Amino acid sequence: MSDYKAPLRDMHFALYEVLGFEQHYQNTPGCEEASTDVVSAILEENAKFCENVLAPLNAVGDQEGCQWNDGVVTTPTGFKEAYQQYVEAGWPSMTHDSAHGGQGLPHSLGILLSEMVGSANWSWGMYPGLSHGAMNTLSAHGTDDQKQTYLTKLVEGAWTGTMCLTEPHCGTDLGMLRTKAEPNADGSYSISGTKIFISAGEHDMAENIVHIVLARLPDAPAGTKGISLFIVPKHLPAGDGSAGDRNGVVCGSIEHKMGIHGNATCVLNFDGARGYLIGPPNRGLNCMFTFMNAARIGTAIQGLAHAELGFQKSLEYARERLQMRSLSGPKNPDGAADPIIVHPDVRRMLLTQKAFAEGGRMLIYFAAQQVDRSEHAESEEDRKAADDLLSLLTPIAKAFLTEVGFEAANLGLQCFGGHGFIQEWGMEQNVRDCRIAMLYEGTTGIQALDLLGRKVLMTQGETLRVFTKMVHKFCQAQEGNAEMEPFIAPLAELNAKWGELTLHIGGVALENPDEVGAASVDYLMFSGYVTLAYFWALAASVAQAKLAEGDGDRAFYESKVQTARFYFQRILPRTQTLETTIKSGAGNLMDLDAEAFAF
Ligand SMILES: Cc1cc2nc3c(=O)[nH]c(=O)nc-3n(C[C@H](O)[C@H](O)[C@H](O)COP(=O)(O)OP(=O)(O)OC[C@H]3O[C@@H](n4cnc5c(N)ncnc54)[C@H](O)[C@@H]3O)c2cc1C
Repeated sequence: MSDYKAPLRDMHFALYEVLGFEQHYQNTPGCEEASTDVVSAILEENAKFCENVLAPLNAVGDQEGCQWNDGVVTTPTGFKEAYQQYVEAGWPSMTHDSAHGGQGLPHSLGILLSEMVGSANWSWGMYPGLSHGAMNTLSAHGTDDQKQTYLTKLVEGAWTGTMCLTEPHCGTDLGMLRTKAEPNADGSYSISGTKIFISAGEHDMAENIVHIVLARLPDAPAGTKGISLFIVPKHLPAGDGSAGDRNGVVCGSIEHKMGIHGNATCVLNFDGARGYLIGPPNRGLNCMFTFMNAARIGTAIQGLAHAELGFQKSLEYARERLQMRSLSGPKNPDGAADPIIVHPDVRRMLLTQKAFAEGGRMLIYFAAQQVDRSEHAESEEDRKAADDLLSLLTPIAKAFLTEVGFEAANLGLQCFGGHGFIQEWGMEQNVRDCRIAMLYEGTTGIQALDLLGRKVLMTQGETLRVFTKMVHKFCQAQEGNAEMEPFIAPLAELNAKWGELTLHIGGVALENPDEVGAASVDYLMFSGYVTLAYFWALAASVAQAKLAEGDGDRAFYESKVQTARFYFQRILPRTQTLETTIKSGAGNLMDLDAEAFAF
């Protein structure tokens, strides 16, 4: 059974037929080089690397895991060599600034590549993925010297990066972090403290690791307003720019965890390690938030990646596995039984995965367009509009896609029956690997508070209206198109309901702030289902137009229209339950005394 096949046809559909990426790149300053030919060639080349090099290492990574020995971490067989190939092919530098050795291609292109890398082998992909976070921080906030010393090495891929936020007593609540930064006479800082759960925090794939660390200066105010950001390299740079002496940071242990075994999740002990301040003192969290949207889209991709991988494998299996006869008479009369794809329930599971994977792809690519526009659009007004849209869509993409991605991965396993539970098929690994996506980069609960509290209610619904207006315009444009009616009528109704629900929650929250927390995850899921409905309606309109033109690729477009129909008739009605639970209010959660949960 194949491990992973890059879905290039569907990627092209989402990019060029649904989202107009050709015009997007031509009209966005600095993105013009990304012509359709260039993008296609890059996607094809990356697809080969993902299919032939990374995908075969996915099970190896899971079974071998990383090994820790006295502070040294060895990655699974083949990981290091794959990374060397990745660097030699120039992939790390693709979307970074040419001033630091990058190729200057649009950020959105990096997101497309991350999808393929992540679907082929999520654990491996996290090593270069974390480096991008460090590179973006340095690009936005580093001094020229810091960029010259660290960024160029990261862009080249010679060094990798990490993001060190979490400590044993503080995960979500970073205001409590304790790691200290004491100023030294030479302008550097001595960093001391313990960070936990640091992905790619120690490994053997590159000669140096650049840790981006949150810590407190001695006179810092308490809480989140007293956090600063530091570069702490594993090896201090030598005079010639190479990795020099060891710095005072060691990996105390690695975690034994449910999934992503190929990625080292490290306890890092900083013991007077030399660090360098990035950005202004006490503004560390603000600096991080400047690229948080892009990083969270990176995690949203994980939902898509595991949905796609599970879908591919379970579809192949469902076409081959013979069990029982179709209820409506044999479909494979010469065989001992029919392939399980004839059974309605197996189709439910396959179509759910397909709807989430392909719908999620459109949502992520749309968000990727906003990343480009928020950075490069001609006018300040356009950049702000894109940024507003991105800030609304980011918690939805991150939390909703990882939740439904997990549901999809689980259904992929279910299609295999008992064989799904057995290691050899890779389906149980897919479920285990997927689970972390709802936890890191802000749990679903925290993303939901961000969406409803910060993004929607605190802007008096302004950012939400940017998106709902777009959906409204699309629905208006489809008026009179009878074939689109089954999609447009429910979409328009739910789009209006989204605003009404927001007003309702805003109203009850004036009386009781807990109403926001009580509604938030259901509200986020409601928002996700409506957002995906918009993209599926767009896809259906494109596919119907192609079918009307008599386009040769009929089977592809018919499959799009049928999947949209499935989504609207079998997935979107979940919004009705969510509306009911949202309106049920906070009382059913809060009235029970904490002491009375169990006796
Ligand atoms: C494999 C792995 C890799 C990771 N990689 C990194 C990394 O590279 N760098 C890094 O810095 N960190 C990393 N993390 C840490 C990760 O980001 C945190 O685990 C996450 O932020 C949650 O923090 P916590 O585990 O302390 O949970 P807690 O903050 O203790 O939360 C526990 C529960 O309470 C809920 N909760 C907390 N506050 C609220 C609230 N106000 N309202 C509603 N619910 C709330 C949460 O949603 C959660 O369900 C990683 C973690 C893992 C497991």
